[in-house]
Amino acid sequence: MMTKTSVRHSWGQGEVYESLCLLSIGTSFWMICVSLGLFDTLTTFVLAHNLLEFLMLATFMGAALMGAFVRKSIILRRTMAERDAAASQAEQVARHDALTGLANRRLFLETLGCWQTKPQPGPPSAVLLIDLDRFKPVNDLYGHAAGNAVLCSVADRLRAVLPRHGMAARMGGDEFSMLLRLEGGSEGLLRLAERVIASLSAPVLWNGNELKVGATVGIAFVTGELADADAVLHAADLAMYQGKKDGRGVVRVFKSAMDEELRARAQLETELRAAIENGEIEPFYQPVVSLPGRKLIGVEVLARWRHPIRGLLAPSEFISVAEETGSIADLCYSLIRRACLDAREWPAELTLAVNIAPQQFLDAWMAERILAILTETGFPPHRLEVEITESALIQDLDGTRRTLTSLQNLGVRVALDDFGTGYSSLYHLRELKFDKLKIDRSYVDSVTMSAERAKLVDAIIKLGASLGLVTTAEGIETEDSSSWLSDQGCAFGQGYLFGKPMPKDEIDRVIAHPACDPADCAPPRSTQAA
Ligand code: C2E
Ligand code: MG
Ligand code: MG
Repeated sequence: MMTKTSVRHSWGQGEVYESLCLLSIGTSFWMICVSLGLFDTLTTFVLAHNLLEFLMLATFMGAALMGAFVRKSIILRRTMAERDAAASQAEQVARHDALTGLANRRLFLETLGCWQTKPQPGPPSAVLLIDLDRFKPVNDLYGHAAGNAVLCSVADRLRAVLPRHGMAARMGGDEFSMLLRLEGGSEGLLRLAERVIASLSAPVLWNGNELKVGATVGIAFVTGELADADAVLHAADLAMYQGKKDGRGVVRVFKSAMDEELRARAQLETELRAAIENGEIEPFYQPVVSLPGRKLIGVEVLARWRHPIRGLLAPSEFISVAEETGSIADLCYSLIRRACLDAREWPAELTLAVNIAPQQFLDAWMAERILAILTETGFPPHRLEVEITESALIQDLDGTRRTLTSLQNLGVRVALDDFGTGYSSLYHLRELKFDKLKIDRSYVDSVTMSAERAKLVDAIIKLGASLGLVTTAEGIETEDSSSWLSDQGCAFGQGYLFGKPMPKDEIDRVIAHPACDPADCAPPRSTQAA
């Protein structure tokens, strides 16, 4: 960037240069006059005609004219220098990120375009697209100042590892990129990408806190096969997206198959939107029983998509897509509405547990929306239980608390789902007055095999009891686990041992014949789902 000092410096040089020019012109003129004897002739003439005063006057007027000319020229030079400085500053702002000082997306794409259209002699080049992992929780928990500190430190660390002649840029949000030559071949490039991940994973110290993020890197080579700069960036983006899917904190290099995967994903998004609108996502119901008596006390509503070609799809195939595309709320409310209508016919003591996605808690009107469904369907609030996962707690604790309190004021109960898999702490358990803890099935399925796990599950049940919470163990598959859990004081159980998630007509049969083992009432294999 051109600074004020550098602008002043250039004016000084201009002035000296201009004065020297004028002096040398004057000196040359004087020498010519001396060598031609013009001064002697002039002196004789002036003295003969008594014109000394007139000559002095002419000399002063000439000097004044010269001064005015020099002044005007200096002002003109200054104006031009200021205009150049302003233009260069505007250029700087338009092509650089204001927070980190790195190149911005526009400059990066322009440079990438140049490298692509005018290949330089030497090794080919590549783009590294770097997306931060776990940046959002840092921003949400510690605020924007902390987020900005992380972004600035990321920029510094990228500058530190950037090879000569390379470019680092902030593409927007928590996405960065690098453009560089493959000096050390593709192995060198992979080593560099690993170094980037290691460097960005080191904690950032901010106000006495250690802020930790990570990074996932996608790489695309700048080749003639990719039409333009956008296509190269898109390829690096696909590779990065693959890295996120593979567990984050890894490097992935673009392969053309990734493009097909993305197309498939786009198609899934379109189909899912239509499926939600057409009611193709339906509620399945999994029994929840009391322990040790195994009396049916309620059901959990689990989404299933009857896909016209792919058959019955489990939530893992589409819930995250619905969350990412913003259609999870529509999906969830339509399921709750259908489930409430189904459950109206069941005995009044049976509860209905529904899963709510973390991002729905960001909607300040969620409790009102649920109340509207309960009123419309005539389903009593005290029979509804809302399950929230631990990740909802870290994104906006105050907002989540307000929503939970509004729901509980309506009479709806709230359960903390998948306990033990996320970030919740004793602090969260005390702050948010849950009614129930659901122990995640990853703990439950190994209680009888691992003494360590058994101790942990025992501790969770006792912790729940000490806070006045009942516990449900998820994923009970064996008699041994069931009796061990009920011996430890676990009040409720859910799992394949008591029944898999099933469609309405099937759960209707189980409810109508409570003595009958759900396995015996089981529907044909095609309708039941894991
Ligand atoms: P979740 O709420 O923890 O539901 C329990 C999951 O454990 C269900 O998987 C259920 O089929 C499975 N499960 C229950 N008992 C057993 C068992 O004994 N063995 C094994 N191996 N699995 C068992 P499902 O239906 O695939 O759902 C997975 C997750 O998807 C749910 O976990 C829930 O977090 C989410 N989900 C399901 N439906 C919805 C929905 O309508 N909205 C939202 N936001 N999330 C949903
Ligand atoms: Mg659940
Ligand atoms: Mg669960």
